[in-house]
Amino acid sequence: MTDSKPLRLTTSWDDGHPLDRRLAERLAHHGIRGTFYVPGSNISGRAVMDAGDIRALAAAGFEVAAHTYEHLRLPGLPLEEARRQVEDGRRWLEDILGSAVRGIAYPGGHPGRWGRQLARDAGFAYARTTRMLCLEPGPDPFDMGTTAQVFPHRLPALLRNWLRHGGGSRRLGVLSDLGSRAGLLAGMEAIFARARQQGGVIHLWGHSWEIERTNLWPALDEILARAADLVPADGRVTNGEVLT
Ligand SMILES: [Zn+2]
Repeated sequence: MTDSKPLRLTTSWDDGHPLDRRLAERLAHHGIRGTFYVPGSNISGRAVMDAGDIRALAAAGFEVAAHTYEHLRLPGLPLEEARRQVEDGRRWLEDILGSAVRGIAYPGGHPGRWGRQLARDAGFAYARTTRMLCLEPGPDPFDMGTTAQVFPHRLPALLRNWLRHGGGSRRLGVLSDLGSRAGLLAGMEAIFARARQQGGVIHLWGHSWEIERTNLWPALDEILARAADLVPADGRVTNGEVLT
């Protein structure tokens, strides 16, 4: 018999869309925790939850973290505008919550040249990227990686993510788990089996509006149920708790 290694599970959900309320219900149903990254508004015109909904997420035990003020991708912005987006996104959210906001997710997933430093300067403790295929957050708290997105990525997209974030042998296992199986559920099963052996942190992320658009609510329920079977309650954490 093989001893299993310590295993934790975290989830994160970007954009603060009103469907996050449904997502929070599903997470709570399965006893799974996580972090919602909410911008003040969304430049793409997508709806964002109101202040009452945001406070309700925090009251339900989820972490609420920043996603810039207007959901602008940092790499395309002049430095001072990028700084304003990072700082104002935090201030706006702290005014709503009445408590400190520790994390930020970079819109589009990439910090660009200045993003990491801007997040640090603004007083954040960590920042999440969209680097996938990881079973650990990585050494830099302002460059937190993830494992898999709740989205039916095909192999070329997974390969692009692998390459864009430096490739490397450590992420090949999860790449093959997701890339060689038919469908997200089968891929997640393979990841869960790997994580059970290796230990580490399973970090599942996505967008509620995208889960709706791709009809993935039933698959999400199955994945969350399976994850809850695998990881004991004390190993289910928010993104911020991954680093503690
Ligand atoms: Zn986003």
